[in-house]
Amino acid sequence: MSDVFKGYKGNALAALKKFKIRVWSEAHLDTTRGEFKGIILPRSEHDDHEHLVLKLATGYNIGVAVDTIIDMKEYGYKEAHYKIPEKEFPTSPEKPYVKLLGTGGTIASRLDYRTGAVIPAFSPGELYGAVPELADICNLSTEKLFGVFSENMGPEQYKALAVAIGREIEKGVDGIVIGHGTDTMHHTAAALTYMVQDSPVPIVMVGSQRSSDRPSSDAALNLIHATTAAATSDIAEVMVCMFGPTSDEYGLLHQGTRVRKMHSSYRSTFRTIGDIPLAMVDREKVTPLKKNYNPRRKDRNVRIAPNFEERVAMLYYYPNMHPDMIDSLVDNGYKGIVIAGTGLGHVNKPLYPAIERATKAGVALYMTVQTLWGFVHMFVYETGRDMVSKGVIPADNMLPEVAYIKLGWALGQTKDLEKVKEIMLTPICSDITGGEPYNGYLIFQGGIPEIEEFLKKFHK
Ligand code: ASP
Repeated sequence: MSDVFKGYKGNALAALKKFKIRVWSEAHLDTTRGEFKGIILPRSEHDDHEHLVLKLATGYNIGVAVDTIIDMKEYGYKEAHYKIPEKEFPTSPEKPYVKLLGTGGTIASRLDYRTGAVIPAFSPGELYGAVPELADICNLSTEKLFGVFSENMGPEQYKALAVAIGREIEKGVDGIVIGHGTDTMHHTAAALTYMVQDSPVPIVMVGSQRSSDRPSSDAALNLIHATTAAATSDIAEVMVCMFGPTSDEYGLLHQGTRVRKMHSSYRSTFRTIGDIPLAMVDREKVTPLKKNYNPRRKDRNVRIAPNFEERVAMLYYYPNMHPDMIDSLVDNGYKGIVIAGTGLGHVNKPLYPAIERATKAGVALYMTVQTLWGFVHMFVYETGRDMVSKGVIPADNMLPEVAYIKLGWALGQTKDLEKVKEIMLTPICSDITGGEPYNGYLIFQGGIPEIEEFLKKFHK
């Protein structure tokens, strides 16, 4: 007989036996903390012996302490099979050709019920098996480049991705989709914007905030939107495609250099900062919101520049930062530092000698603002002027993460700091803009009559 108590031991096992409940039972639990209904999930051998794990109808898993259980009753049984079959994609020659490159993240994940952790498990082929609508949009071929959560992405992976993208473009694809973890998607989007120069086709990064075994998953819709954008959009840039509103009405396409993950759990987490999103996308079409973008071309003349100097750091200034933060970077051979400064781009006075020492040692120092909205202005206050005189270069309205990636890319190409400066301050795909949309930063914070109306209506 197969083990119906998968992984349960000690008191937890005794409780299951006592009430005749098995793993995958749909059970009603009466506890001293209230009543719960859900599916009993398997336990990992490393977990404690004092809890049962229950998957609620919302998709969330909760632990129930066995000493709180008064009664349990089985009202059903639902063994889950999470393996999604790989499917061969149907080909229709009249449809555009899209390549899906998988790197990992939640979009390629499911819950591992043995360990309780979210693990990368879907191959891109399985992704198609789960989202058959993709066949209505394009001819899709898939390749799994990595299977990592996005905190593990870095220069090595950026370079490999850029090279793979170049190869696919030369082969003639009409668009590229990159499946990626959301946490650092904006870093990779910036890296690819720089490493893939003048792409003739859309390059669309996509992820999901909730894994596809949860009812509220955004994985399928994001993938449909991203594939639509890659197959049909006229915008040949590196973009991030994720939920626009909190509901599933439409997705937004954000420019790879102006986008940022802004909420730890909302599906509508990606926001364009300092600008408006490039376009809206639904199941049928892409509607551009900005006019000035690089349009799709028929040629295959892409340039891949997979350069990156790894000894670059980003320093998020906080009051009372000590100079040894900068000294230690210099002493450890860092070639570039991007500071996210306060206000218009400031740090405290005790850092000045360390900054001077760094620039004299040939370290490239750039200033960005931690306010995210707005420009660095280092000529307004004495402190800013002092820093410029010590060699810190204002990076206009580049987002801190974008400036960090661009500095790594620039220093990966040349050691000549004047050339690095020229690269850094030459706008690429709106990483630096002439200005911001009027009142853009007030969106959803009040200060604009329509929004105040909205706020009054919904938040009395
Ligand atoms: N931790 C995950 C990642 O960035 C989150 C996600 O994919 O949304 O890989």
